[in-house]
Formats: sequence, structure tokens, C-alpha cells
Amino acid sequence: MPKPKAPTEEARARPIDGAVQGDDARYDRTLRPKTFDDYIGQTKHKENLKVFVEAARRRGEPLDHLLLCGPPGLGKTTLAQILAHEMGVQLHMTNGPVVEHKGALAGLLTKLAPNDILFIDEVHRLNPVVEESLYPAMEDFRIDVMTGEGAFASAIQIQLHPFTLVGATTRTGMLTAPLFSRFGHVVRLDFYPVEELAKIVARSAGLLEVRCEPDAATEIARRARGTPRIANRLLRRVRDFAEVLGTGQIDARTAIGACERLEVDAAGFDEMDRRLLKIIIEDYDGGPVGVETLAAALGEPRDTIEDVYEPYLLQQGFLGRTPRGRIATRKAYEHLGKKEPKRQGPGQGGLFE
Ligand code: ADP
Repeated sequence: MPKPKAPTEEARARPIDGAVQGDDARYDRTLRPKTFDDYIGQTKHKENLKVFVEAARRRGEPLDHLLLCGPPGLGKTTLAQILAHEMGVQLHMTNGPVVEHKGALAGLLTKLAPNDILFIDEVHRLNPVVEESLYPAMEDFRIDVMTGEGAFASAIQIQLHPFTLVGATTRTGMLTAPLFSRFGHVVRLDFYPVEELAKIVARSAGLLEVRCEPDAATEIARRARGTPRIANRLLRRVRDFAEVLGTGQIDARTAIGACERLEVDAAGFDEMDRRLLKIIIEDYDGGPVGVETLAAALGEPRDTIEDVYEPYLLQQGFLGRTPRGRIATRKAYEHLGKKEPKRQGPGQGGLFE
């Protein structure tokens, strides 16, 4: 079977995918919290960041370089914007693969005013040459650029204003050690518990001027896979159903009914999640199955399996990771209404006992 290279349309259009799709970008802007007070949850990280901001402001220095890690839609960009707002500086945003060469990076860095924040999303995807020229910029606020060509080429050093690099990544493991070590703080964002997501849904409903009852907000939150962007997207889809088929107000029945029509089940799984679990259970006796095999069976690239499907299934304990591959857990069998076979294991009459 040929290896799929890009996520399929089906994988991209899932209502429960944390990455930006459709009209998300526009709503992200409308619904994005602007201050720490509006940013719901992640309390431990928020309290630490508040202290770092206050300390940097008092000293008139930039914040230390900061790495934000976590799956898409958990609020990394939002945090970067809040940090710039609270520091009273400009935020300049770019994306790892977009900074194609050293010159482009120099262009970005020389535009920064003192203490500004440069936000690089997908920082693990920087080209290695660009990444290397970022090191002196991060350490000493200087960048070396080449002028002239051939025999006339020479390097000149440009001194930069002090600045903060905020890097965001969905794949911390793919960051090189030299880049990772240059960040002063690492914030690993966690999936949000249902109560916090329900608060996010209630806040967004207020901004969208739609009435959403508290238990409806909880039903939406339950299906949002711990991810604010998904919670906001589900809210908007549910609002469509409520406006066209109901009274325009969102109650729990409307929320559940709309999610069923979107084929998002009570655990926030869609057809693709169920298919993944079914492949492990039905075709591979519950696993272990190598991730490459799963990718081929689902027709998705390995990265999509690891970045999009797995994190939530693993975090919620539906999937287990072993050295030999993925296994379906008891929870997965129960969720799909299947009976778990007795596994051969230690103490169950294994071969060497
Ligand atoms: P990421 O950069 O991690 O992909 P974003 O910062 O773009 O995620 O967040 C996606 C959307 O989710 C934002 O537009 C915002 O509306 C919402 N959001 C994220 N985190 C929070 C939060 N802690 N409180 C309220 N809304 C949030």
C-alpha cells in the first residue's frame, strides 16, 4: 500500500479536529481572550506567566524566551497575544516553514522594537539553517548576515533590540536539543477538563449573543475533546441547528441532537476515531499494532495519526502505547460495545511460567 503523504479531506474536515478549518480563523479572532483574566483554566501556567510578566515589566526587560507545547487548539496563539498585551509590546507572528531562509529571518528580527515578541508557530519545522541563525539572536540579540557574493562575500553582524521569542509546537520531541535549551521557560498546555470547557462555551455564547443553558454548555464541553477551539466550533454548529430547527436558544436536548447529527458521540469521538479503535480491535485482536500499519489501514499519514487522532485517545485511556505498538484498552471495548478477549499475560499461564 503506498504511504499517504497529506491528511485526507475527511481528516481535515472533522468537526472535532483541533486544527484551524473553515471559518475558525475568523471566529478565533472574535472569541480569543485578550487578557489573563479572560483566559480560562491552565491556572498553574497562567499564574507563573503573570509573575514573569510583572518581573520583566518592573525591570524594563523583555520576557525570557518561551516555548508553548501542546496539541492544536489549546490556546498557544492566544497566550502569546495575551503576553504581548500584558507586556504592552507588539506581537509579530509567523510560522516555522514560512521563514524560508536566513534573510527572511533577519527581516523579521530587525523589525522588532525593544521587548517585542516574535511568535513562531510550528517552531519545530524551521529550516535547519534558519534555526542555526536564530541561536545568536536568542542568546546575544545579534544576527550575522552575508553581504556580497563569491570573493566579495563578507559577514556583517547586526545588533538587534532585546526581544522575546515565543515558540509554539505540537511536537516537542521534534525540537532539536540546541533550540530547546535556548528557551527559558517551557509551558506544556494540558487538555481542559469539562468544567473549564463549559465556562469557555458559556463565554463564547455570550460573545456570539446566543442563549446557551448551563447544561447545554456542559454537553458541548463533554464532546470537545479537551480543546477550546473544538468547543467553540461545536457551539457554532449547534447554534446553526438551534436557529434553523429550534427556537434559537440552546438547551441540552438541542446540543445533544445537533452533535448526533454531526456524528460526534458522547465521548467526543467521530467516525474516524471509532474506525481507528475498530481496526485495532477487529483486525488485530486489540493490538499491539504498529503506527505505520494503522496509518496504512486508515489511509492517513503517520503524522496525522500521531498528532490528530492519538493524543486525546491516549490521554483519555482508550488507547495504550506499548513498545510494539498501540493497543485498545478496556475502555475502548466498552465504548464500542464489544467484549474484551482474555489476554495472555503474566500470571495467566504465559509460555515461560
Ligand atoms: P493554538 O494556537 O494552540 O492552536 P489558539 O490559541 O488559536 O490555539 O486557540 C483557539 C481558540 O480557542 C481561540 O480563538 C480561543 O477563542 C479559544 N481558546 C483557547 N484557549 C482558551 C482559554 N484558555 N480560554 C478561552 N478561550 C480559549
